[in-house]
Amino acid sequence: MADTKLCRACDNELPLEEFHRSNNRADGRVAKCKLCTKMNRATKPATKSRSVSLTAIRLSRAINTVCKRLRIPVDIKVNNDATITVTIKEESSDE
Ligand SMILES: [Zn+2]
Repeated sequence: MADTKLCRACDNELPLEEFHRSNNRADGRVAKCKLCTKMNRATKPATKSRSVSLTAIRLSRAINTVCKRLRIPVDIKVNNDATITVTIKEESSDE
């Protein structure tokens, strides 16, 4: 079973567990994913930095999706200054 939902903020299709529950919604989940909700809350006063943050989230999701697809183990961190830290976890590399 693959229940997914499109996040209104970052436009990514994510598993339902990435969305907080809401009784007001038909599908029982809020419109924005957990990360967007968190980032939105953290950067609410500044509209500009919020959009930068959303871009950073969107980019980090995209990187994550691509890396998953390519089976590259990575650590992705969205920083408060809207930069993204991507660390490739090198496993056994055949030289
Ligand atoms: Zn989102």
